Amino acid sequence: MNFHVMTLFPDMIMDGMNTSIIGRAVKNGHLTLEALNIRDYSKSKHNQVDDYPYGGGAGMVMQPEPIYDCYEALCERIGKRPRVIYLTPQGSVFHQGMAEDFAKEEDLVFLCGHYEGIDERVLEEIVTDYVSIGDYVLTGGELPAMVMIDAISRLVPGVLNNEVSAEFESFHDNLLEYPQYTRPVVYHEKRVPDVLLSGHHAKIEEWRREQSLKRTLERRPDLLENANLTKKDQKILAILKEK
Ligand code: SAM
Repeated sequence: MNFHVMTLFPDMIMDGMNTSIIGRAVKNGHLTLEALNIRDYSKSKHNQVDDYPYGGGAGMVMQPEPIYDCYEALCERIGKRPRVIYLTPQGSVFHQGMAEDFAKEEDLVFLCGHYEGIDERVLEEIVTDYVSIGDYVLTGGELPAMVMIDAISRLVPGVLNNEVSAEFESFHDNLLEYPQYTRPVVYHEKRVPDVLLSGHHAKIEEWRREQSLKRTLERRPDLLENANLTKKDQKILAILKEK
């Protein structure tokens, strides 16, 4: 998977993604990540990339030409025209299913806005997906791009050491993950549930499934509408709802 981020703040992307699991995946060659500086494509004397909005109003708007030229130069270099995700509070709200869909691509381009946003005409020309990371307004698209890259990267084969760990996590099957415990067995007088120490795998699985259902019901009941539930799950939920 190759990530290309079009931004006015390339250091923010490269510094932010250089560590931990994603940094290691880049070093190991499972991912490539590059930040393309939109300012490099400005044709103005002072490398200007923004201007006042037509019609008046507060703030500045990013101009279309440098963004278009930046994207075209990338396409020419890599010999294809990848999907372009514009990070915007006006987009569909990002979720795990979208991460799974994007993870199937070989190349992805992220377009980060700043100031009041980007001239609509270049968005119409190059953007294929409008994505928001939540119903709030940030100062720029860099943090949302990093959030998405992180979530997508974990689904790319080889990025996580343990391939199964992404498969059984929260949102898989539209259920939240069960609670996790590690050493010590007793912490602040709280003991790890006995079943997890029993070594009885079937019982552990049963307990985890029940905890997943309980947690989803308590914290995200909306997810249950689209969850893949067995008859046994439904019975457990009915009992939990009565409590
Ligand atoms: N004037 C724009 C509006 O009302 O829709 C908001 C512009 S915002 C201050 C600047 C940039 O931050 C946007 O162009 C976008 O790239 C990014 N951004 C802000 N909030 C975001 C969110 N919730 N999700 C994704 N990107 C966001």
